Amino acid sequence: MKVIGVLALQGAFLEHASHLERCLATKNYEVEITIEIVKTPEDLAKCDALIIPGGESTSMSLIAQRTGLYPYLYEFVHNSNKVVWGTCAGLIFLSAQLENENALVKTLGVLKVDVRRNAFGRQAQSFTKECDFSKFIPGCDNFRATFIRAPVVEKILDPIAVKSLYELSMNGKNVVVAAQQNHNILVTSFHPELADNDIRFHDWFIRQFVCK
Ligand code: GLN
Repeated sequence: MKVIGVLALQGAFLEHASHLERCLATKNYEVEITIEIVKTPEDLAKCDALIIPGGESTSMSLIAQRTGLYPYLYEFVHNSNKVVWGTCAGLIFLSAQLENENALVKTLGVLKVDVRRNAFGRQAQSFTKECDFSKFIPGCDNFRATFIRAPVVEKILDPIAVKSLYELSMNGKNVVVAAQQNHNILVTSFHPELADNDIRFHDWFIRQFVCK
């Protein structure tokens, strides 16, 4: 059995949980999977995988520090036997380096990239884009990805460990909006949990990362 946790300190955790539930209700997996809403070290201790949702990385980091969960999260994400997926603020929280440094965001530092927060601008510049992910998700050539005050990976600091999965052109430059580190860490700038009725990204995460 594998337990997928969804970090529920702040942000879009319910949407991730409902996409996961829909996967479990409609797909078959090699192993039995359960979902855990994670608020405490005890919840986290049950998990094999953890989704860190989008939201607001400053708040998420501060809540993790104030509730005492931060050191347990730190240990979890640095354990190569655990699977981790960070979306948007989750990507920022996992990163080693922030381009537009904010002392309040104490990151978990595991993802060997340099990240720029709010790279596409403010809330009003949020957008959706139909993306072709078929290079890594078979048949998924029309996924509507939602970018909300999204970060981008400006620089990959360890190109051996981190591979870019998807890039967008921004001001004439290609920026990474989905990446994988080693076999166990996935990050996306966008929000697959906000794609209504489309669970292909979550299904792929379960098959490719959790069941492996
Ligand atoms: N810009 C936000 C931050 O810095 C992230 C936005 C999101 O998760 N949608 O945390």
